Amino acid sequence: MSEVRDVIELDASIGAARPSNAALQARRQQAVARGVATMLPLFAERARNAEVWDVEGNRYVDFASGIAVLNTGHLHPKVTAAVSEQLSRFSHTCFQVMPYESYVRLAERLNALVPGPSAKKTMLVSTDAEAIENAIKIARAHTRRPGVLAFSGGFHGRTMMGMAVTGKVAPYKIGFGPFPGEVYHAPFPVAYHGVSVEASIAAIETIFRADIEPARVAAMVVEPVQGEGGFYLAPPAFLQQLRRICDSHGIVLVIDEVQTGFGRTGRMLAIEHSGVEPDLVTMAKSLAGGFPLSAVTGKAEIMDAAEPGGLGGTYAGSPLGCAAALAVLDTIEREGLCARADVIGGMIKDRLNVLARTPELRQCIGDVRGLGAMVAMELVEAGDPDRPAASLTKELVLLCARRGLLVLACGTRGNVIRFLVPLTAGDAIVEEGLSILAQALTDLVAG
Ligand code: PLP
Repeated sequence: MSEVRDVIELDASIGAARPSNAALQARRQQAVARGVATMLPLFAERARNAEVWDVEGNRYVDFASGIAVLNTGHLHPKVTAAVSEQLSRFSHTCFQVMPYESYVRLAERLNALVPGPSAKKTMLVSTDAEAIENAIKIARAHTRRPGVLAFSGGFHGRTMMGMAVTGKVAPYKIGFGPFPGEVYHAPFPVAYHGVSVEASIAAIETIFRADIEPARVAAMVVEPVQGEGGFYLAPPAFLQQLRRICDSHGIVLVIDEVQTGFGRTGRMLAIEHSGVEPDLVTMAKSLAGGFPLSAVTGKAEIMDAAEPGGLGGTYAGSPLGCAAALAVLDTIEREGLCARADVIGGMIKDRLNVLARTPELRQCIGDVRGLGAMVAMELVEAGDPDRPAASLTKELVLLCARRGLLVLACGTRGNVIRFLVPLTAGDAIVEEGLSILAQALTDLVAG
C-alpha cells in the first residue's frame, strides 16, 4: 500500500499533468490484476489517425490499430462528430426499454452488407466475445442441438463459450475450465504447416464418426482469416466445403468477421472473397471505430429462433456505438477504404518480400501472406517452418516500439508479426513504419 502511495507521490513530484511511463507502470502493477497483460509499458496520452503519443510525448506510428479496431483511424472526424452529436441528445435508454432509430438503421445497413440472397436480421451487443456467445445461442435455439465445431488456432474471446470455441490453450484457457461441453476442434488448413484443405475436411468427418454425430451439431464457427491464430487464410475452396457440409447436415455456419471485417481484407467482409453465404456473421472491432459495439447478422429465419427477451443486454447496441458505426460505414464507402486496403497491403507485402530475399533475412522470414491489408510475416529459424522464432518476434515488437512503431505479434507459436495499419493512413506513414520494422529486424538478426 505504502509502495503505491510512494509511486503516486513520485508521479506528483515529476509534474502532476505528465506522469512517466515507468511511474504509471509501477502503479499499474500494484493496482491491476496480473491476468490483464499488456504488450508494452507505455501509456497513451493522445492519438490521431495512424499516430499515437505516450505520456512522455513520444510519438508512435500505429500499425496495431488497438487490435484491428481502427480501420478508420484514431478519432476520425466523421466518427467523433457523429458520437458528439449523439452525446448531445442522450447516451443511454437501453434499447429494450425505449428503442432508438440508429439501432434500427444500423441493423438495416448490416443486413444489406452481409452477402447472399436470404433476408437478414441483426442483433447488437457490446463486445466481440458476446457476439460469439449470441451466435451460438441463436444456432442452438434454431437447431435445438447442442454441438459446436470450431478450429484449432481460432480465437473467439474470453467468455466461457468464447474460450471453449477458441482453439488455443495458452494463455486463454489455462486455469479457467471446465468449459461448456460438446465443443470440438478440427485442424485449420495451413499449407505452410502442411495441413491441406483435404486433411482439415477429413478431420471434420473423423469428428463426426468419433465424437459427435452431425445431427447433434448446432454450429460450425470459423474465421475467414485467422486473427490471433496467425493470419492464416482460409482458402475459398475450404469455406465452400464447410458450406456444403453445413447444408447437408442442417448445421448453422457462423463466420467470425470480428478481426477481418470492415474493409480490412479489401472487401467489406472477408467472406465475400469466397462467394459463400453465411448463416450468421459476428462483427465487432472496426465496426464502430473504437466504441464498444458488436453485432450478429444472419438469415432472418435463424435470427428469429430466439424467444423475445432471450437476446440483448443493458448496454447492448449503445446509441453511441450505433452513431459511431453508421459514421464508420459511411466513411469506408466515401473514402474508398476497401480499395485502399489493397494498396496498403500491396505496399507491406512488397516491402516484406524484398526483405525476405535479402541474404541476412532469407532464413528468418519464413512466410509472407495476406488478404488486402491483413498481412503477416512468419519468423522462423534456419528457414524451417517447424522452428518458430518466438523470441525474435518478441524482441522485434519491443525494438520497434523503442524506435517509434507499434506492431503486434500473433500466432499459436508466437512467431508471427501482423500488420493492422489504419486504412486511412497515408503512404508516407506506411513507409515510415515499414522502414522502422525493416531496420529493427535487420539489426536484431545481423547485429
Ligand atoms: N473473435 C475474433 C476473430 C477476435 O479476433 C477476437 C478478439 O481479438 C474475438 C472474437 C474476441 O474479442 P473480445 O476479446 O474483444 O471480446
